[in-house]
Amino acid sequence: SQDILHVQGLRTSFFTDDGIVPAVDDISFTIQKGEVLGIVGESGCGKSVTSLSIMGLLPQAGKIIGGEITFEGESLTKANEKRMRSIRGNDMAMIFQEPMTSLNPLFKIGNQLTEAIRTHRSCTKDQAKKRAIEMLELVGLPRAEQLLNEYPHQLSGGMRQRVMIAMSMICDPKLLIADEPTTALDVTIQKQILQLMKELNHKLHTSIMMITHDLGVVAEVCDRVVVMYAGKIVEEAPVRTLFKEALHPYTQGLLASVPDIRSKQERLQSIPGNVPKPGSIKQGCRFAARCSHAMDRCHVEDPSLYTRDENHHVRCFLYDSQTKKEADHETTST
Ligand code: SF4
Ligand code: MG
Repeated sequence: SQDILHVQGLRTSFFTDDGIVPAVDDISFTIQKGEVLGIVGESGCGKSVTSLSIMGLLPQAGKIIGGEITFEGESLTKANEKRMRSIRGNDMAMIFQEPMTSLNPLFKIGNQLTEAIRTHRSCTKDQAKKRAIEMLELVGLPRAEQLLNEYPHQLSGGMRQRVMIAMSMICDPKLLIADEPTTALDVTIQKQILQLMKELNHKLHTSIMMITHDLGVVAEVCDRVVVMYAGKIVEEAPVRTLFKEALHPYTQGLLASVPDIRSKQERLQSIPGNVPKPGSIKQGCRFAARCSHAMDRCHVEDPSLYTRDENHHVRCFLYDSQTKKEADHETTST
């Protein structure tokens, strides 16, 4: 198939002093070749844990306890650390909110870029340097040759984020995972960086998994979107469908909190309450405490993922008359 990434029934838990905390609880999704998939939700919904599970970068206490992740037909959940190191930065790369987590303040931009390529490819220093310049130009940085001799702190936040994108793309990865890549930037720079990512996606056909809390970002760059809440996928749809007809009360709440410039609405509605602590809700819909549509059954039964149409799925009893999604755990796992 054209799937580049396939996540099936993924469960990731944290083993803490207070017990086992399920951060990601049975999620399934795919990313197609060249597709930009948005993973959306408030902080604490499991979106970052999902990406760290895929990259094999979970912190010590985190563990994948179920399900399978397949990248280009190869199981990542079965791959050893050596294999994961070779995949990371090469076939699959990641960028973070804060570029300084990836850029070393002590080394010149040029050293870091050439190092990134020489980790995975055998090439001469000159070839690596040539590639570094090419990448800096590709991400729209002027005077690339000069930049190679500068240190990260000499650049603006937006330029640093461009350098980080150049570094992540230097081995021409097939999948780029971007975790809140523009959240720390001001609005104008944010727009430019999103535009750049869209361009790279078009030019190089890199698949992108865009993790964000901001549906505005999703509208800007994504083809399809998965909405997560408290470790579960609650809605999945093509972006246009989602903006036209969001079905889940949580998605509707997120949409109501996106600034709409045309309406000149100043105060945004935000969803009252917080995401429940992982594992704290033992039964019923995890959104019930914040949902204005909650019915009696919502507090005792766990809703399935219902299918509105082939591409649109929603985990909510309001759509109980629709068919259940085949891939959902009720039908496929024990
Ligand atoms: Fe609200 Fe019930 Fe739907 Fe959950 S299942 S989102 S509580 S209506
Ligand atoms: Mg996060």
